[in-house]
Order: sequence, then structure tokens, then C-alpha cells
Amino acid sequence: MNIYDKFKNGLKKSSSFLSTNIINSLISKKISDEILEEIETTLISADIGLEVTNQLINRIKKNKINSNTNTDIILNLLAKEITNILKNSEKKLIQDHNNQINILLFIGVNGSGKTTTIGKLINKIDSNKKILIAACDTFRAAAVEQLKKWTSKDNVTFFHGFINQDPASVAFNACKKINIESFDYLIIDTAGRLSNNTNLINQLIKIKSVIQKSTNIEIINSILVLDGTNGSNMIKQVDTFKKIIGITGLIITKLDGTAKGGAIIPIAKKYQIPIHFVGLGEQKDDLLEFDAEKFSYSLLGLNN
Ligand code: GDP
Ligand code: GDP
Ligand code: MG
Repeated sequence: MNIYDKFKNGLKKSSSFLSTNIINSLISKKISDEILEEIETTLISADIGLEVTNQLINRIKKNKINSNTNTDIILNLLAKEITNILKNSEKKLIQDHNNQINILLFIGVNGSGKTTTIGKLINKIDSNKKILIAACDTFRAAAVEQLKKWTSKDNVTFFHGFINQDPASVAFNACKKINIESFDYLIIDTAGRLSNNTNLINQLIKIKSVIQKSTNIEIINSILVLDGTNGSNMIKQVDTFKKIIGITGLIITKLDGTAKGGAIIPIAKKYQIPIHFVGLGEQKDDLLEFDAEKFSYSLLGLNN
């Protein structure tokens, strides 16, 4: 399967919801205010948000569409407009030619897909690069085992503490290791936490400041992993984690499991935060570098 087919296949639930409803609204009817309202309702039910929905509807209106305009033209118009919104969010996370060590701190609520995503991400990194994975989810024994399973590759070293150890101290020890040995990547997995749990949030702030103090690396990539099936609730998570710890990029998982994949559009528009990858399944190859155009056209079920 080529990359475009992977996007199309992964976003099937979202695209069949959107395109089926939009096509049904348009079938053998003239574009009228009533039809536009129907399309508006479809876009809003797909969690695309009011602002982006208005932008898309205005785009259709501006195009002077008449009764002969075919539905494909409208879907293409929408895909193009969505591409424009998402274009600025493309940003590579894996930079194998970088001379400095790349530090990636993974954060997010429980079950959002952090550990699985780290496992998939390792396969995107050149196998000549040395990777240290630090398991800072010290709360559950299973969490350490789960991460370990994903990390059995020659170029990957797995680092963990003991159960209930202060995760910041595990991070500290991992940093000590990268200061002595040479690594190209330090990837840190953390326990899931809700942004309203002050204790756990403070723990996260501590992890980040420990990394900053014990390495001379200025840039720590703080990557918020969002569960795509949360739809518009993702916005609240971005909001709070951004305020509390600062986010340098997003990875949105499980977009294969929802009809609300369009929810990432208002996030991109509102925050201008890079979306590095999207998760479109549970297998190791199901993590795709975010591509605005492929995403947008696939979301509407179109062949680009
Ligand atoms: P964590 O608590 O944030 O570390 O989340 P996990 O990595 O343990 O993932 C929670 C569940 O989500 C697991 O069952 C994963 O297999 C599943 N998952 C993660 N990413 C994806 C994805 O892109 N698509 C699907 N369908 N499932 C995913
Ligand atoms: P306190 O109860 O407010 O003193 O805070 P705790 O540190 O005991 O933790 C609050 C809740 O979060 C409790 O239910 C703990 O079992 C749970 N908890 C503590 N550490 C972690 C962690 O690293 N990850 C997760 N997911 N939960 C934790
Ligand atoms: Mg985990």
C-alpha cells in the first residue's frame, strides 16, 4: 500500500461519514441555503468546529456553484481549503542529520497512545542511530513491560527504574547515561495523567526541569499525544498541557477508529502547533508522518 492509500484506508470512517452525508445533501438538488445548512450540520457533527465550518461554507458560497456543479467539485473545494489550513502544521520530528541529541518527551492522558507511538516511532529512525528509551511510567509494572516489548532492536537501549520510583529520578538517571555514552535520541515515556491532577502534573514539570538541568540541550521536544477518538475534547487537552508545560508538537492517534478525524483541523487552526504524526492503526507501520494534502483529500474520500 502506498502512503496515500494508507491515509485513505486509515481515515475511512471519517471520510465515509463526511462524503456520504455531503453527497446525499447534494444529490439532484440545487445548492440552496437549505443544502448549505445540511452540509454545515454534517461538518459540525464531524467535530470540525464552528469557525472552520463557516470558513468552508463560505468557500462553497464564493464559488458560485450552480445546479450543474457536480459533488466532486465541492468535495475537492473543501479538501483544498482544509489543506490550506493544515499546511502550516507539517513539521518533521525525526531529523537524522541533526548532530545534537534529540530529546523527545512524550506526554498525554492515560491511554492516548504514548507507549505504542514510541514503539512505532523507533522504526522510523535510521537504524544507525543510537536510541535510549527511558520508561518514566513507574506507576504500573505492566507499563514498563509494554514499552520493553516495543523496543527490542539492536540500536535501542531500554532504561527503566523500579516501580513507584520518582519518575523524575528515572529521567535524571537516563540523562546521566546520555551524558556519558553517546546517543542520538533520548525518548521518554511518561505515565498518563489528567491535566486536573495537580500532583501528577507537578511530577511532569519536575521531569522536564530535571532533563533541562542535567543535559545541556536547549530544545526538549514535548510531544502531546492525543487520542483522536476524543474529537473536539482534544482541544481542552491541548489548552491545558500547553499552559502547564509547553507543547512543541502533537501526535494524534487512533484516527482509524473515529468518524471525527476532522477534529484536528480546528486544533491546527487555533494553535498553530506542528502535527508530527498521525496514528492510523495498532501495527508498527500504522504511524504516518503528517501530510496536510494527503490527510485532507483522504478525509473527504478523494483520490488526489
Ligand atoms: P498510553 O497509555 O498513552 O501509553 O497508551 P498506549 O500506547 O498503551 O495505547 C492505548 C491503546 O491504544 C492500545 O491498545 C493501543 O494499541 C491503542 N492505540 C494506540 N495508537 C493507536 C492507533 O493509532 N490506532 C488504534 N486503532 N489504536 C491505537
Ligand atoms: P494524592 O492521593 O493526592 O496524595 O496523590 P498520589 O500521588 O497518591 O496520586 C493520586 C492518584 O494518582 C492516586 O490514585 C495514585 O494511585 C495515582 N497515581 C500516582 N502516581 C501516578 C502515576 O505516575 N501515573 C498514574 N496514572 N497515576 C498515578
Ligand atoms: Mg503508556
